[in-house]
Amino acid sequence: MTWPSARTAVAGVIGDPVEHSLSPVLHNAAFAALGLDWAYVAFPVPAGRGQEAVAATADLGIRGLSVTMPHKAPAARACQRLSPVAERLGVANTVTNIDGVLVGDSTDGPGFIDSLAEQGWSPTGKRCLVLGAGGAARAVVLALAEAGAARVDVVARRPEQALAAAALAGPVGGLGAAEGAEEADLIVNATPVGMTSDGLPFGLDAKRLGPGQLVADLIYAPAVTPLTAAARERGALPLNGVGMLIHQAARQFRAWTGQDAPVEAMSAAVLAELGRRAGRVARFSQPR
Ligand code: NAP
Repeated sequence: MTWPSARTAVAGVIGDPVEHSLSPVLHNAAFAALGLDWAYVAFPVPAGRGQEAVAATADLGIRGLSVTMPHKAPAARACQRLSPVAERLGVANTVTNIDGVLVGDSTDGPGFIDSLAEQGWSPTGKRCLVLGAGGAARAVVLALAEAGAARVDVVARRPEQALAAAALAGPVGGLGAAEGAEEADLIVNATPVGMTSDGLPFGLDAKRLGPGQLVADLIYAPAVTPLTAAARERGALPLNGVGMLIHQAARQFRAWTGQDAPVEAMSAAVLAELGRRAGRVARFSQPR
């Protein structure tokens, strides 16, 4: 087989920037594992051009798109149909081209729930504290409420942003505080705090973490953040964002190909790539 050929199905990711996206690694590993004649590429699309880029996929016959910052809201506007989740959030991280009709979905929240399920953990009846109120937090808040959480409290620098995110959880949503962390069964960091800094989000006191809690950080690089390190030290179960990253992509793969995603192959490929990148950073940080 000559690959790619005129028959190769094309999928891709749009973003600005997009060069560091792990989506090509995840999806090409999945296509290869199942021997599918598909190829996945990254399209750098400048801010302000997302809606046009998504609309063009119908004419180009692109079968599926992942959408990253800053195009998630414009992508939702470009779609002819939206899933209920994408409709509620007003964003799409996934576009599926069904015979020229563009269908938008948001797989981040369900992907996060899948990553909890992988740990044998269900949000049903649980008290959840979400730190941050941006795009990822909103997706997680909605997904936790839909999965039957008893409480979904949100902490943010701006109370109006926290309230808007909490409203997605309906009657179980509310304003939270880092001081209430010991009451929570699940704590989710949906801020970038911990990616490059040492502290815990919102000055969270590590003494409020303990056995019986699941402490999830949506950050996947570095693999261990100050929050997950503190959780482990205090006897809580730590979880980083790699599982969410894999499962949101697995749901995209299913939408585009109609096949179950080869999660093990995707996981192996992304962990190898993350390891390669971490090694590169470590090498470059050595004193010369
Ligand atoms: P976003 O839309 O920009 O939201 C970021 C949120 O964090 C906002 O509420 C922001 O508040 C808050 N924040 C930023 N810096 C803060 C600080 N120093 N102290 C307190 N709050 C702060 O970003 P996002 O897309 O939601 O992403 C959030 C995190 O989730 C990132 O680390 C991202 O890498 C991760 N993520 C992971 C996955 C995955 O698959 N694992 C998927 C999506 C996102 P303000 O509005 O006040 O600045």
